[in-house]
Amino acid sequence: MESPSIKINEIFFSIQGESLLVGKPTVFVRTAFCNLRCTWCDTKYAYWDGKVMTVDEVMKAVKGYDTEYVCVTGGEPLSQKGTYDLLESLLVAGYTVSLETNGSISIKDVPKGVIKVVDIKCPASGASEKMAWENLELVQPTDQLKFVVASRADFDWAQDVCQRHGLHKKCHILFSPSFEQVSPKELAEWIISSEAKVTMQMQMHKQIWGSDERGV
Ligand code: SF4
Repeated sequence: MESPSIKINEIFFSIQGESLLVGKPTVFVRTAFCNLRCTWCDTKYAYWDGKVMTVDEVMKAVKGYDTEYVCVTGGEPLSQKGTYDLLESLLVAGYTVSLETNGSISIKDVPKGVIKVVDIKCPASGASEKMAWENLELVQPTDQLKFVVASRADFDWAQDVCQRHGLHKKCHILFSPSFEQVSPKELAEWIISSEAKVTMQMQMHKQIWGSDERGV
């Protein structure tokens, strides 16, 4: 039987810049297509561009790099059925697999064993109405819910969501400043003054290579 296929935007080897795996040399598999249009999106090039590849071809490309870490990202990976087959194949091959997903699609069918990094889009993204709120009940303790904060109003909204749902008891909570919209210092001070039960993150790849560099 032919291996399922996925439209892939790019496959590259770099340093993980986000999540609790930050700093790990990682193979990134960026799938094409996204069902959202966040105001501050930095990967618009993944909306359509890409090449259709079979899962076997993606696996071969991943195995070309000597690392145990693979991150499947987008675009929105869960917008393509073949992503589920790819995640399964990566787990079977023994990789530590993380999935970055935009929070608008249920994670219920993501294979167990995948570390899910699930966005909760704050209002300034323009996408907070599109969230699949059931994901708050589906996360495992190893998963991470990520809020990109682009204003003080976003911070207050994110804090309210965390507190109302007791999210810090369910999984890891990540707050990141939206690049050039909220300074790291501002976000750090808001977290400290409100005693927020979160982990602050920066997009390390942007600090290393700048905001416009692709394939990093
Ligand atoms: S979910 Fe990600 S890829 Fe999609 S529009 Fe938002 S930031 Fe861009």
